[in-house]
Amino acid sequence: MKTAICPGSFDPVTLGHIDIIERAASIFDRTVVLVMQNNRKAYNFTPEERVRMLRKTTAGLPSVTVEWADRLLAEVCAGMGDAVIVKGLRAVSDFEMEFQMALMNRKLNPALDTLFLTASERFQYLSSSVVKEICSYGGDVREFIPEEIHDEVRLRLAGANIEAGRA
Ligand code: ADP
Repeated sequence: MKTAICPGSFDPVTLGHIDIIERAASIFDRTVVLVMQNNRKAYNFTPEERVRMLRKTTAGLPSVTVEWADRLLAEVCAGMGDAVIVKGLRAVSDFEMEFQMALMNRKLNPALDTLFLTASERFQYLSSSVVKEICSYGGDVREFIPEEIHDEVRLRLAGANIEAGRA
């Protein structure tokens, strides 16, 4: 059984991520969305929240499961049988970093390949950080994130802005 592993922070999940997950699911037998937790990074949502939001959003995709990991991606994939990493590639900005990560993952686990799907044209500019930036100023992000998580994301990020403003 061919498995796609879609790793990322998903802090929070955007429609750009969902587009890649849906396209991976249409190619592979099963797709595992892997919420990565790097303890040196600051996140707005806990791993549990990010997993819950992704599960809510991908509930209609039967071959997709969502898990989280705080270990090296190459190690996690080694325990997943016939797995390939699937990543979205936006314009040139993602290329250098993604290329380096793909090579390093293969160095750590020679059986592990990375497959890149070109980001859809309409999501080229979209990232979790852009969504967070817009929300922090009270802007409308309805067309950038899944409807199912919209209220939760707006509430959390607007709250963060109010607290920062009071400090
Ligand atoms: P971000 O770069 O938004 O912080 P993540 O670390 O969660 O995102 O990214 C996980 C994966 O999703 C990466 O492979 C990234 O290239 C891809 N991705 C992120 N945003 C998009 C998008 N708008 N279109 C296609 N792929 C995307």
